Parts: sequence; C-alpha cells; structure tokens
Amino acid sequence: MDNCIFCKISKKDIPSKIIYEDEDIFVFHDINPAAEVHFLLIPKLHITNMLELNDTHQILMGKMIILANKLANEYGLSNGYKTQINTGKNGGQEVYHLHIHVFGNK
Ligand code: AMP
Ligand code: ZN
Repeated sequence: MDNCIFCKISKKDIPSKIIYEDEDIFVFHDINPAAEVHFLLIPKLHITNMLELNDTHQILMGKMIILANKLANEYGLSNGYKTQINTGKNGGQEVYHLHIHVFGNK
C-alpha cells in the first residue's frame, strides 16, 4: 500500500526503532509508549486489520503471537504484559495496517 505509514516503516522508508525483522514480520517501538516497554508487531504484508483476516493468514498470525511473547520476555516483561489489537473505526484503530501492541512495565 503506497500511502500506508506502517508499510513505509517495514520497508525502512520511514525510520523507526527496530526490535526485530524477518521475511514476514517487522517489530518496532511505539513512538508514543503507554508503558515502560511498548512495541508493535506488524506483518510485512499489508493487512488492514483483523476484519480482513482469512485462513491464509493462520501461520502468519500464529508466528506473530509466539514472537510477541518471545520479545516481551527479552525486553524484561517476564512478569506479564498487555497485548492489544485495535480493529476498525469502532475498535479505535488509528493506523490502518494490522498491528499487535505489546506493552508493560518491568
Ligand atoms: P492504533 O491504530 O490505535 O492501534 O494506534 C497506532 C499506534 O501506532 C499508536 O500507539 C501510535 O503511537 C503508533 N504509531 C503511530 N505512528 C508511529 C510511528 N511512526 N512509529 C512508531 N509508532 C507509531
Ligand atoms: Zn500497510
């Protein structure tokens, strides 16, 4: 998607504080953290939000959840953390590229 800020971040056209990257997933610190640690996991594939998910996304979404926990542990959240996925207008979504928030205090 040409005009999507998170697509641009995953392509490094816009800088971010990168935490992790592989062929399918990009992870970076939230620019406006809600806690001591706050990062976002996004698929490199432009998926608008959860409303767009289908069976072809099963492995990708599974990988993202497992990775969320791995990185939360690496970033000091082994006592627990919050996850959030805002979906659409009624879900308070601001950036229309699917993302998983992980945030918490150490
Ligand atoms: P939401 O769509 O409601 O889940 O919120 C989007 C999130 O993206 C907010 O927590 C923003 O602080 C974060 N955000 C927006 N632009 C950037 C950016 N350029 N770099 C990092 N995080 C961002
Ligand atoms: Zn996008």
